[in-house]
Amino acid sequence: MSREKVYNFSAGPSMMPESVLKKAGSEIEDYKGSGMSVMEMSHRSSLFGEIFAETKAKLKSALNVPDSHEILFLQGGATLQFAAIPLNLMGENKCADYAVTGNFSGLAAKEAEKYGKVHIACDSSDRGHSYIPTQLSLSNESSYFYYCANNTIYGTEWQHVPDTNGKTIVCDMSSDILSKPVDVSRFGLIYAGAQKNMAPAGLTVVIVAKTLAGRQMDICPSVMSYDTLIKKDSMLNTPPCWCIYMLGLVLDWLDGIGGVKAMEEIKKERAQLIYDVLDNSKLYIPHAEPGSRSDMNVTFRTGSEELDAQFVKGAAAEGLLNLKGHRLTGGMRASLYNAMPMEGVRALAEYMKKFEVEHNV
Ligand SMILES: *Cc1c(COP(=O)(O)O)cnc(C)c1O
Repeated sequence: MSREKVYNFSAGPSMMPESVLKKAGSEIEDYKGSGMSVMEMSHRSSLFGEIFAETKAKLKSALNVPDSHEILFLQGGATLQFAAIPLNLMGENKCADYAVTGNFSGLAAKEAEKYGKVHIACDSSDRGHSYIPTQLSLSNESSYFYYCANNTIYGTEWQHVPDTNGKTIVCDMSSDILSKPVDVSRFGLIYAGAQKNMAPAGLTVVIVAKTLAGRQMDICPSVMSYDTLIKKDSMLNTPPCWCIYMLGLVLDWLDGIGGVKAMEEIKKERAQLIYDVLDNSKLYIPHAEPGSRSDMNVTFRTGSEELDAQFVKGAAAEGLLNLKGHRLTGGMRASLYNAMPMEGVRALAEYMKKFEVEHNV
């Protein structure tokens, strides 16, 4: 199947903007007359130094990151941060509050338990992680409150930044970063694996308040210490150079379409197209409850595993790829990240309606 005929609804790694791939392709062998690919450059070279500094400046501008916060470009994926966060931020009390609203926040809480006391601030597992709880219970001893902004597997998303009465907020934004404006000053730390909305897999972005650095436990590995990484400007060791370059291209593309403010409108429109089909259907059962629905990952099923499989297979035959849900939820999942064109979403909506008619419900 040729690229022109395909829309990739994968939850991650996911599709990249077409123009970004073209630009990267045009520079792949010879970056700006250097005779080298970005893949071949020393991370200490002045040419890569420019790419690094420019990408950082573009991200700072795209998300309006205040001077109080530092941007880090790291390896290890979002999963490494599950450990780095408690090791750096649990402090003397060794206690933190975790909101468990899905798979990844559950994994983060479990990892944090290795290093201190985890107090569960809320847990949505009673209804299959189909909603975002409204009540939080925060512990007096805890040094931060942790939550995951968008639950990639279950298809729920926090519609607000929770009020923690001044307690430091730490947030996993892996699957909705750059999809809308965020008030970064409200967060102690924001982090995201790049492979959903930003760049190829291999880069993790951490945005951390400088005042939170230097509180790491003695056992914290140097490569995970925010204090060390800030002092070394992410270059204690080799950073993911190629992915940083790709993020720069993605940020240029995002800027060109109007930045995160424009993206917020686009992503709402995209998701609404699919939720409208679900809400007017006798066949499809949406997983997420209204009020908690994600604009990035739309989860649904038919109620019959056989029909779900037929749906996924038939969609793939029409170039609508990777719609099978995660094994934890079953059914289907349409990931509508920043790079998904509106035409792809329209094609999916049409396919869904056609499939429903064909199955005569
Ligand atoms: C994909 C994802 C992760 C895991 O990311 P890795 O980079 O594979 O470690 C964590 N949190 C969320 C919200 C995700 O979507």
